[in-house]
This record gives sequence, C-alpha cells and structure tokens, in this order.
Amino acid sequence: MEEMTLAKADPEIAHAVRAEIDREKNTLVMIASENYASRAILEAQANVMTNKYAEGYPEKRYYGGCEYVDVAERLAIERAKSLFGAEYVNVQPHSGSQANMAVYLAFLKPGDVILGMDLAHGGHLTHGSTVNFSGTLFQSVFYGLHPENQVIDYDQIEDLARKHKPKMIISGASAYPRTIDFEKIKEIGKRVNALTMADIAHIAGLVVASLHPTPVGRVDFVTSTTHKTLRGPRGGLILSGEKYGRALDSGVFPGIQGGPLMHVIAAKAVCFGEALRPDFREYQRQVLLNARALAEALLGAGFDLVSGGTDTHLMLIDLTERNITGLDAERALGRAGIAVNKNTVPNDKRGPRVTSGLRIGTPALTTRGMKEEEMAVIAGLIKNVLEGPENEKVLKDARSTVAELCGEFPIYEFLEQNG
Ligand SMILES: *Cc1c(COP(=O)(O)O)cnc(C)c1O
Repeated sequence: MEEMTLAKADPEIAHAVRAEIDREKNTLVMIASENYASRAILEAQANVMTNKYAEGYPEKRYYGGCEYVDVAERLAIERAKSLFGAEYVNVQPHSGSQANMAVYLAFLKPGDVILGMDLAHGGHLTHGSTVNFSGTLFQSVFYGLHPENQVIDYDQIEDLARKHKPKMIISGASAYPRTIDFEKIKEIGKRVNALTMADIAHIAGLVVASLHPTPVGRVDFVTSTTHKTLRGPRGGLILSGEKYGRALDSGVFPGIQGGPLMHVIAAKAVCFGEALRPDFREYQRQVLLNARALAEALLGAGFDLVSGGTDTHLMLIDLTERNITGLDAERALGRAGIAVNKNTVPNDKRGPRVTSGLRIGTPALTTRGMKEEEMAVIAGLIKNVLEGPENEKVLKDARSTVAELCGEFPIYEFLEQNG
C-alpha cells in the first residue's frame, strides 16, 4: 500500500478540507448546534480504530483483537457514567437520531402512540415528525408552546397524554430557548403510565455543568448528541437506569446498528474527560452569560425573541413583524461572514424552507474565547445586516468587523488552511 499524504493522494478532497478549515476559522459560527471540538478530540477521531470491527460490547465482542478498542469504550462508558451520574450508558449510537431510534425500537411496537414536541415549535424530526421514521412507524401526537408566553405548555402535555394514552412521552428540543422542567415530564408520565424520554442533544453541556436541571434519574431514558454544547465528536449517547440496560444494549446492537465507530468512541472518551474538568463548567457558564448578553442586545436593538429571551445557549429571533424572511436573513448574514440558520417560529406563516425566524447560539464563539463585550458588537452587526440585507457597504463593513473578531479570537492555529 502506497503511503501518500491526503494532499498527494486526493488533492480535490484535501483542498475541500483546507477550505473548510479556512471557513471555520474565518466566520462567526452562531449555529446553535455547532461547536469546535478540541485538537485532542480531532486526533482521537482520526486514527486506525476506524479499521476495527467490534460488534458487541467490551469483553463480549463478535470479533477478536478488540482489547485496545475495549479500553476506549470502557473509558468512554465510565467517564460518561460519572459525568452524568447515570447507572447505564451506551456510547455506540452513531448520532443523536440513532440514539432515539434505538430507544424507540427497544421499547415500542409499530403503531404505538408517542407524544412529542411539535417540530414547528422547536421539537426534533425524530420526535414523531411524519417525514421521519418516528412519525411513519408510530402514531405521533404533538404538544407545543403556550400561545401567550411561548413557553412549553405542560398542562397541554398532560391533557394530550390523558386523551391519547401515549406509550412514551418525549421531551427535549432543537430550537427552544427556555429551561425544560423534566421533573414535570416525569410526573405526567407517572400519572398516565407512559414511559418518558428526555433528548438533551442541545443542552447536554449545560446539564453536566449543573446549569440546566438534569433529567438523569428522573425520566426513564435520556438521549443526547456529543457534538453540540458537549463539544465532542459527532455522535450519540443513551443514559438510563440499570434496569433498562440489557434492552437498550440490544436495541442499539444488533437492533439498529452493526459495528460501532471505535475511533469516534475513542474521541467521545476524550470529550467526557474534558467535560469532567472544572474549566468545562467555566466554559458553559460563559456560554450562558454570552447568550444572555446577546439576547439583551438584540432586544435592545428592537428585535422580537421567541418567549422574550433565553435561559440557555440559544435564542430565536422572530422576524414576523420585519420586512425580511428567515431564508433571506440567513443568506445576508452568511454573506457578512456570520453563520446562523433559518428556523420556524410558533405559528409561522411561511413554510420550513423560508421561515420567519433565525436560530442563534453562543457555544462556538464562546469556545473561541469571546465574551459579553463581543456579543454586543455582534448584535450590532446582525441589526445592520438585517436592516440592509442588500446594502453592499453594510455587508462590507460587517465583513471587516467579522475578520477583526476572528483575528482577535483565533481557533485551530495548528491547522493548515489554503492560504
Ligand atoms: C441534533 C438533535 C438530534 C439529532 O442528532 P443527529 O446527530 O443530527 O442525528 C436529536 N434530537 C435533538 C433534540 C437534536 O437537537
């Protein structure tokens, strides 16, 4: 086998990777679900463990030669247990969606009723949307936000649960800026005899830093991604009490997956190790301080925010009363070097491809070291761009401020870019 560098072997891909490095260094990443994994995590992921078949679980594999990948998976499991305070952990789901699928297929039968948060109100595709397996395999019923305060309507959850008798109640969200009361979800589940699941894909980092109440030990199942506020490699995770462990293990493998991605599991172990350190809590604290500062500055600039603000790492700008769609706002900010995503807002009159909202988060900028002061500057940029989305002078000025900020708060200095 010839041992060529990527640059030699495949210049097209090498160029695309370097261009992506360049993009990540030189834009303000404000997509709430994105972050910058550490150098150690990138290294742990880019190694020969990608070659190893390890179907099964540590010490109970269907292949020989698993002694070293077992070290990685055992460390990932032990660290995740202490990080989340969970009795049982499964680190094999390839993604957040796979984690959810494994839980459903382990405990539900096709046709069962599930109750989840409406996608249009901030829920996730895998919580019962009809364009996802969760909505075609199961009968989904949705709860949403209270029309007045735009906060989750727990009374509605209980009413719907009594009426439709779901087998499982799903909590957690992709675009919800407020604290979720998992204790209430657990109580409702108990009263209507439903299993309960909390999907903390977005808020896992806040949860392990004790900055958002934990659902672990309350609801039956907790699922998460490892790449959002948790700042690890792209992947999924399941936590629960010991009593569900066997069913969840077989739900993941052989239920829905084959060989685990051992290089990613090694990187998950590094991620959990980082998250156990005190400076990780400091990071999450700053994520929240930055989100609050950004929300206040945006409100001060006259923007409407869904629910009027944020308790978490993200916020939703409601553009309904403005002369610009979510799609055009995303494009204009993109041209200024600010990466955000369009998002539906409650009762959005435009479809999901256009939308009337923007979702904005602070995890990635906080990883770069930005603080409240920079959030105020960025709120000003957002205001200027959204008020003059086609004004070339405004975009040029915004781009130059973005370049200054990226220069002042560098990231991935060890990585080579296209120049
Ligand atoms: C991101 C997210 C997921 C899915 O994670 P993928 O890794 O993209 O499959 C699931 N649930 C929620 C609430 C999410 O925000």
